[in-house]
Amino acid sequence: MSLQKILLLGSTGSIGTSTIQCVRRFKDSFSVSGMAASRNVDRLIDQIIEFSPSSVYISDPADAKKITDRFGDSIKVYCGESGLESLVNDTDYDILLNAIVGAAGLRSTIAALKRNKKVALANKESLVVGGEYITSLLNQGYGSLVPVDSEHSAILQCLAGVKDSTIESLILTASGGPFRNRSKEDFLSITPADALNHPTWSMGKKITIDSATLMNKGFEVIEAHHLFKLPYKQLRVWIHPQSIIHSLVEFHDGAILAQLGLPDMELPIQYALSYPERLPMHGKRLSLPQIRQLDFFDPDLDRFPCLKLCIDAGTAGGTAPVVVNAANEVAVEAFLENKIAFNDIPGLVAFALDNHQVHPADNLEIIEETDRSVRLTILNKYLSRR
Ligand code: NAD
Ligand code: MG
Repeated sequence: MSLQKILLLGSTGSIGTSTIQCVRRFKDSFSVSGMAASRNVDRLIDQIIEFSPSSVYISDPADAKKITDRFGDSIKVYCGESGLESLVNDTDYDILLNAIVGAAGLRSTIAALKRNKKVALANKESLVVGGEYITSLLNQGYGSLVPVDSEHSAILQCLAGVKDSTIESLILTASGGPFRNRSKEDFLSITPADALNHPTWSMGKKITIDSATLMNKGFEVIEAHHLFKLPYKQLRVWIHPQSIIHSLVEFHDGAILAQLGLPDMELPIQYALSYPERLPMHGKRLSLPQIRQLDFFDPDLDRFPCLKLCIDAGTAGGTAPVVVNAANEVAVEAFLENKIAFNDIPGLVAFALDNHQVHPADNLEIIEETDRSVRLTILNKYLSRR
């Protein structure tokens, strides 16, 4: 494999630091030519010292000055609202690894595709809000997209060499989160600390809350619809608390293929970077005799309405998933700040959908305008109606 230059967005986060581990293991295959983060300038400075990228982005101009003061002209430093897109447009790289959180990642995904780059996508919100537009860019021949999300990586691995017409369904697995066995009445007392305590995966705060509500799984169904071009009726979810089977593909003869592994993002990240090749990984091995038991359940849409909200919004298409995502970002932040209860997350998202007239979402302006107007108003509207 020739040396691939990576532009790593979200380098200081959970996926970002696991990506860095992968680059460390394969110094002859990967280098880091650029990095971006919103906070944690000290960690970013340590990463700059280790990888000497040519360019970096950090949101706050004061943090950007700290980097310039330290490294001088040896590095180009971007900041502020338009800085991230400039980094993606100006930097020399082969692969954009997008591990930013939320719809804030969309512009970078689009900018990299328009430059014909390979995008290794952890930022699933890009596909939730911009799936139709991104698909149209890919259909026009712009760039390529490889999933980092473990479920979609599993499906991609199961689909190698498969004829599309033989696929009956894709089955995404979900751990079920920390409240899998809680009764609906007990949901009222859930605190942010309870929801941040995920049973199998260690991740950033926002996706951890999304996993507790199953919004994350709903987003992943929308992500799978766009990545693998299947209608929603061919996409299913199974709760699998051990997080060992990362997803499955069912074929029209009844056969099912699955990809298994430890619940660790390093393999899907490494696979996305090296795809379609496979690189070795030492040390980490799954032993099924040690695990002994794998369980599966159907999801409970009554206790976890976010999954259904996403499937309905995905089926409606256009701006509906944009509304779900924006309302969810507002709701998760408000829940973490103790402004609303756990049950208000699906409540607020459903309220936002009820108050929205769906439009086609085939360009960036409509997506961003919908996103902005929901963010600005939805929390106050929701709270004042109660
Ligand atoms: P995280 O909160 O740990 O890290 C986010 C990173 O993005 C940080 O470096 C942060 O500084 C940076 N960032 C956030 N907003 C930014 C902005 N506007 N501009 C520039 N930088 C910004 O999050 P994470 O858990 O690593 O998740 C990242 C993405 O990957 C999310 O979309 C998540 O859904 C997805 N994902 C994560 C996991 C996981 O295991 N953590 C698994 C699958 C998918
Ligand atoms: Mg996932």
